Amino acid sequence: MATVAHPDVAPPPLTALSEEERLFQSSVRKFANEQIRPHVREMDEAGVFRKEIIQQFFEMGLMGIEIPEEYGGQGGTFFQAVLAVEELSAVDPSAGVIVDVQNTLSINALMRWASREQKSRYLPALAAKTVAAYALSEAGSGSDAFAMASRAEDKGDHFVLNGRKLWITNAAEGGLFLLFANARPEAGYKGITAFLIERSFAGFQVGKKEDKLGIRASSTCELILDNCRVPRENVVGEVRQGYKIAMETLNEGRIAIGAQMIGLARAALEYAVAYAKERKQFGKTIGEFQGVQFDLAKMATDLEAARLLVYNAARLKDAGMPFQTEAAMAKYFSSEIAEKAASKAIEVHGGVGFTKDYPVEKLYRDAKIGRIYEGTSNIQLLTIAKKLLGK
Ligand SMILES: Cc1cc2nc3c(=O)[nH]c(=O)nc-3n(C[C@H](O)[C@H](O)[C@H](O)COP(=O)(O)OP(=O)(O)OC[C@H]3O[C@@H](n4cnc5c(N)ncnc54)[C@H](O)[C@@H]3O)c2cc1C
Repeated sequence: MATVAHPDVAPPPLTALSEEERLFQSSVRKFANEQIRPHVREMDEAGVFRKEIIQQFFEMGLMGIEIPEEYGGQGGTFFQAVLAVEELSAVDPSAGVIVDVQNTLSINALMRWASREQKSRYLPALAAKTVAAYALSEAGSGSDAFAMASRAEDKGDHFVLNGRKLWITNAAEGGLFLLFANARPEAGYKGITAFLIERSFAGFQVGKKEDKLGIRASSTCELILDNCRVPRENVVGEVRQGYKIAMETLNEGRIAIGAQMIGLARAALEYAVAYAKERKQFGKTIGEFQGVQFDLAKMATDLEAARLLVYNAARLKDAGMPFQTEAAMAKYFSSEIAEKAASKAIEVHGGVGFTKDYPVEKLYRDAKIGRIYEGTSNIQLLTIAKKLLGK
């Protein structure tokens, strides 16, 4: 167990928020309820997220939470990004993942690895108007991400990139892509290099958009690199440092996927409790039956445990302490309980829960992705087991 820096001061409870965090949380909650909720169903059916809501994300500072104020960002913490993803996801998990990819994958990587010049060029745009995407996966390399086939040929002052990326969140709206390609295949994964690709670069194209089971309003597209010319100054970190950047960034992103899942589980629980208080059978509200009460109590307990895992991992990250295993646990557990909570919420609703007239069927569809992206549940378990076995 890690020790705190000042052992004489008892650490606050994990769920205790500072005044600033509480105000931030309540402003995001209010915004999500008032501005996003009325459009959730229509966006899910259309499979498109409203542009004006993304614009509001920028205006509220939600697209540059950790970007320092000198670059036009909020100068906030990783924990605040996690709070934002939780609050948005409690209303629409698609909204949560848009903000998640922007902050915890893309901006996080730039803050840590980009040069001062790259930061000055890109961070102000990311805080104000540019949606970012994180492009690692390919058709042949998902869990085994470093087996990627995309290649980057070193031409001195520029690189020429060829290949295809698949499953890229935010690609339809994206203006900047943090993209990984192998610049030295003979070195295996140690050849992987990270590039910043502007949408307008010649030879770069956003391809087919996926028609998905859940988080339908969040765009997921293919990217095509056809002799895409990328200036050398757009290499992030060092050439061949890409695998490290990808790994470290995903470790952080996973915590926010945990936050997306606890937001979703909270929504499922709230809908189930409300319905249990209202629906009558056998002359009583169904919430008076112990069988239903026990389901609600288990959902609430799972949610509390998941929230503690997510908040602890985020607090560890902000404290500069190791958090890789905790992040894997947070994502693994939160996505398990979110799927269970959404399933149970449908059962509590009975037949109507199975229809699109009630919001719980969408939560059930949206929950499924939690166990797949940013490392499947098996990959999280592998990370945890490696730590246990000292590998
Ligand atoms: C909606 C959506 C959004 C996404 N967004 C992005 C994005 O923005 N950027 C990006 O780069 N990627 C993104 N992805 C890709 C995502 O990260 C991958 O789909 C995921 O990592 C799994 O890879 P795969 O689909 O190739 O499955 P596979 O790797 O083929 O896995 C198939 C099954 O095999 C299991 N498996 C594989 N290897 C092992 C092993 N060693 N041990 C045990 N089990 C194993 C897996 O757990 C899984 O159950 C997204 C995917 C989706 C569906």
